[in-house]
Amino acid sequence: MSRAYDLIAIGGGSGGLAVAEMAAQYGKRVAVVEAHKMGGTCVNNGCVPKKIMWYAANLAHAVDDADSFGIPAHRGATDWGKLVARREDYIQNINSYWDGHVADSGITHIQGYARFIDSHRIEVDGEIYRADHIVIATGGRPIVPHVPGAELGITSDGFFQLTEQPKRVAVIGGGYIGVELAGVLRALGSEVTIAALEERLLEAFDPMISDVLMAEMKKQSIGLRMGFQVAGLARSDSGIALDSINGGRLDGFDCVIWAVGRTPNTRKLNLEAAGVETRSNGIVITDEYQNTNIPGIYAIGDITGRTPLTPVAIAAGRRLAERLFNDQPERRVDYDNIPSLVFTHPPVATVGLTEPEARERHEKITIYQTDFTPMRHALSSHGVTTAMKLVCAGPEQRVVGIHLIGDNVDEMLQGFAVAVKMGATKADFDSTIAIHPISAEELVTMKEPEPDAAMHHGIDSGIEWREAG
Ligand SMILES: Cc1cc2nc3c(=O)[nH]c(=O)nc-3n(C[C@H](O)[C@H](O)[C@H](O)COP(=O)(O)OP(=O)(O)OC[C@H]3O[C@@H](n4cnc5c(N)ncnc54)[C@H](O)[C@@H]3O)c2cc1C
Repeated sequence: MSRAYDLIAIGGGSGGLAVAEMAAQYGKRVAVVEAHKMGGTCVNNGCVPKKIMWYAANLAHAVDDADSFGIPAHRGATDWGKLVARREDYIQNINSYWDGHVADSGITHIQGYARFIDSHRIEVDGEIYRADHIVIATGGRPIVPHVPGAELGITSDGFFQLTEQPKRVAVIGGGYIGVELAGVLRALGSEVTIAALEERLLEAFDPMISDVLMAEMKKQSIGLRMGFQVAGLARSDSGIALDSINGGRLDGFDCVIWAVGRTPNTRKLNLEAAGVETRSNGIVITDEYQNTNIPGIYAIGDITGRTPLTPVAIAAGRRLAERLFNDQPERRVDYDNIPSLVFTHPPVATVGLTEPEARERHEKITIYQTDFTPMRHALSSHGVTTAMKLVCAGPEQRVVGIHLIGDNVDEMLQGFAVAVKMGATKADFDSTIAIHPISAEELVTMKEPEPDAAMHHGIDSGIEWREAG
């Protein structure tokens, strides 16, 4: 005898909880199956613990700078144990909140791994559950490549389990997780080297972002070994060594972190029993309404391979519930112009098209660009660059991309993303009165390019711009 629901979400992460919560609000009988802890990757091994570590790193940088503002401060060794214990307490509170909220919302919490029996039934630990609607929201996990000695390295999950601070760390991978972990570890006192296959960090971002981030990381004495393809890890007399396919070796690490991407959690789902189609890499194929090829089965969040971010998974879950249970048949996520951040030091904020993407899609592109040392660093012995770029398209100069790196850009982007989504033009930006003195004022005061302008450069004046060729 199977237990019946209107909707079952497989996975109690950002997407699964969002769809379940909203379906329950519409009075539906709902269950969430979770194999580990409620909250999923974001709460337990992603955004939340990462951001706590980032705040700790920011405080460390602030203490380093305090003296130049006349504030006596001296930084000793990081109390890693205390930091991790307090972080985990905070996360446990969020887990408890979700456990309570799920129960209070009348949602059944099923603990364990779900596997499909057919298109309307799943099995968890020998129990069978049936639903008209089943949502796959099982997220992903870090990739560990099949190379000799791979097990000597940990992943981002392992990073969050470290109870002692590693002294000499190699981070393999120059994507957003790699650069975030590298920045945190360095700020807290570890020696850090990034070994990346690509020639640039954050290769998918606008080139201005990579340039400034790489320069800032060098200033922080983070070693950058670009174009380094790891062939294997090995134990050596001085710790763990990374061997490259070209015979190069980086040696002497006591911690190696794999940050080379994530793979979808489809393996244990037995999707074949339901007939759900996946790509060869396990991504569940969905249309723009999150439908899989099987009626009544949907997929949301990281498992769909689309913009793997928490708010995207949440929006997909909520909109799916509205479509299914609130008579809004057209409700869906627009995957264009999704703003995103990278919590480096300084942070990165980006929305819309990069300059190279815009040049491919639009005939006339105008670029406004600036870099400067923000006032926060005016008295510091070392400057930290802020750089900003507006990508504008067409004769009306619609702002189709904003790329920022610098202190506080993480809190700057959300409002500007609304403007991009609404189709704001450069003239709209220009007609907005600036707020002074903050870095964000540069975004509404960038100068009109001269028709034949070559590159103008003025780090101190804060203005650098050029007309697109
Ligand atoms: C280090 C790191 C930092 C990140 N930082 C950010 C950030 O700053 N901002 C941001 O927006 N995003 C960030 N992300 C991405 C974000 O965490 C994900 O996009 C988000 O969690 C995806 O939600 P989801 O619901 O698709 O999957 P998840 O949150 O991964 O949830 C999936 C859940 O399904 C469970 N599960 C898997 N298989 C089964 C099964 N067969 N049966 C039952 N349960 C199962 C898992 O245990 C998991 O709890 C970060 C990710 C990482 C790894």
